[in-house]
Amino acid sequence: MLSHQSQLICHECDALLRMPAVRPGQKVLCPRCGAALYKCRRDPVNRGLALSLTALILYVPANFMPIMTLDMLGLQNADTLYKGTMQLYQQGYWWMALLVFICSMLAPLLEFILISGICLLVKWQRYNEWLVAMLKIQGHINRWGMLEVFMLGILVAYIKMLDMGDIQLGIGLLCFTGMLLATTLNAVLFDTHAIWEQVGQARERHRIRAL
Ligand SMILES: [Zn+2]
Repeated sequence: MLSHQSQLICHECDALLRMPAVRPGQKVLCPRCGAALYKCRRDPVNRGLALSLTALILYVPANFMPIMTLDMLGLQNADTLYKGTMQLYQQGYWWMALLVFICSMLAPLLEFILISGICLLVKWQRYNEWLVAMLKIQGHINRWGMLEVFMLGILVAYIKMLDMGDIQLGIGLLCFTGMLLATTLNAVLFDTHAIWEQVGQARERHRIRAL
């Protein structure tokens, strides 16, 4: 478990350790019990940028193209995530519509934009206040994105509707799955700790130059 700046607490044996300098690809192991404490990801910026841009491209078709089409007695009904959210609102479940809108549309979109922005600023070596603010907001927003919950909901709806008629899965579901995969990979590979460290080093260099 990471504590503040340069110290670590081992989650297995509670040893308090000083965080060593870690290069990309290296792991920090507890010297007392050998537990893996931290892994510095290789190339988090380029990977984060590629994955968040992929998710951004898939975002529009995932939300506005049909997830599935139900053909019941000749009547076809194509459902998109956006349409489903609007239907919840129109049926009076405004609080549920708001929750779905925040967790499946707004929070993921903001997170993709923030990660892309963070990665671009780091690539351009702009370790400024904007970068710090974006890192902080991204740290709060990533708790609100719940795409995996909605994937589960879609699968449950699909199984329940199987008996009602002929169901065809749509391009929206393919894009939603791609977006979910990109988000999950980003959660594993995008390493904000390494970026915070770079921000700290840049500020230290700036402080030394100003002296
Ligand atoms: Zn330990």
